[in-house]
Amino acid sequence: MPPQKILISGAGIAGSVTAYFLGRAGFSVTVLERNPALRTAGQGIDMEGPAIPIIQKMGVEELINEKTTKEKGVAFVDESNISFATFDVGDKGTDIGKNGSGRVWLSLADKKHTGFTSAIEIMRGDLCNIFYTAANAFPNVKFIFNTSITSVQRTSSSITITTSAGKQETYDILIAADGFRSKTRQLILETNDSEAFIQSQNCWVAYFSIPRKPQDFPRSRGYNAVGGRFIMIRPKDDQVSSGYLVVSKDEPSLRKVQRKSMAEQKAALAELFADAGWEATRVIAGMKDTEDFYLQDVAKIQLGGRGWSKGRCAMVGDAAYCSFTGTGTTLAILGGYMLAGEILQSPDQPEVAFKAYEDKLAGYVKKAQSAPTGGPQLFVPQTRLGVWMIRTLFWLVYWSGITRWVGGFKMPKFDLPEYPFDRRSE
Ligand SMILES: Cc1cc2nc3c(=O)[nH]c(=O)nc-3n(C[C@H](O)[C@H](O)[C@H](O)COP(=O)(O)OP(=O)(O)OC[C@H]3O[C@@H](n4cnc5c(N)ncnc54)[C@H](O)[C@@H]3O)c2cc1C
Repeated sequence: MPPQKILISGAGIAGSVTAYFLGRAGFSVTVLERNPALRTAGQGIDMEGPAIPIIQKMGVEELINEKTTKEKGVAFVDESNISFATFDVGDKGTDIGKNGSGRVWLSLADKKHTGFTSAIEIMRGDLCNIFYTAANAFPNVKFIFNTSITSVQRTSSSITITTSAGKQETYDILIAADGFRSKTRQLILETNDSEAFIQSQNCWVAYFSIPRKPQDFPRSRGYNAVGGRFIMIRPKDDQVSSGYLVVSKDEPSLRKVQRKSMAEQKAALAELFADAGWEATRVIAGMKDTEDFYLQDVAKIQLGGRGWSKGRCAMVGDAAYCSFTGTGTTLAILGGYMLAGEILQSPDQPEVAFKAYEDKLAGYVKKAQSAPTGGPQLFVPQTRLGVWMIRTLFWLVYWSGITRWVGGFKMPKFDLPEYPFDRRSE
């Protein structure tokens, strides 16, 4: 019997990880990517908890370690760039974090998430490349660029899709891994509503590259400005830093340009941040000069009673359970591994495989997606008093050392199942 033919839509993090494990298990895998090449835009992304043993199983841990941003931590600064709270992360247990005055304030263990900086911080483009290269090394995995799915027809035994190139192809299984605004999800769930399942958090983030200045390393610096505005500059490499602009409200001027050109999006942001102070002028100038720019409406995806699959079609990563708590990449890696593993367990019964995938992962996803209501608005307040209060809170946390309370979201524990990926192809 020939290996099952599996089609994946989207060559991002979830798509390439799923393709890697299915390819390793001997399935015939085709990945369609809408972009003409691998889409490597984006800034630093985090990986935590169960993502770590998965990258070890893929044999890419060293490649990832070489590419981490080496960010030492985060400093919160005021208008004059004076840091009032610094939260560092340890490096393999050898580095005991010190604050600006040299006070030891944390005992750090190997690769533990101790502050706002995650265990692994890596540029999205680097991670995409590493996963793509690993998956593409299997002769039974094929990536096709500049192509997407325009229609899906299903029978009980197969899926026939039409591509943007006008070709019709038949597969055994279809997987949507095409991100937050997944078109394939719409086709699978048969809805024309492109906003269906998107729960906006009334917050916007723009990620982009800017020329590096000496003060950008080794720590990220974050600055709150009145009007629900936050600017962050993070280390990237010797030449370039990452700029972030956050707006913590449902800003009509951004919603208006959400689907418009990059130039229009940048112009709207430049206007919003023109009087924000600190290094805003430099950050805006850098933003205007880069092509590496991405504006996101911060939201989560919850498919609710619909589940993460329908018949022979399933969804993975942001397409199924986008999270805004900084856990999206970990969920995409974990989801890709689990989905491939469950397909391997029940290769002739996709519906059984998809049910097991969701049953085993849904509780964990729910925890990872949960965050206090109004989280972005709490940390990026509107008023002068609010900014004073959040700065005072950070200062108190810094001096008391209780960073675990305020530090970024920490992934809960997950018992990762083992799957015999190598057995089927032996
Ligand atoms: C350009 C870009 C920049 C990003 N930058 C950041 C960042 O700086 N920080 C951060 O925390 N998160 C960022 N993200 C989101 C982050 O990558 C995801 O939240 C997380 O890694 C989960 O990944 P995913 O594979 O599910 O989705 P994604 O990483 O979004 O990957 C989806 C892939 O599907 C492709 N695609 C989309 N539509 C179609 C279609 N119809 N047919 C075929 N392919 C399609 C996309 O081009 C992309 O390659 C970015 C995402 C993108 C696409």
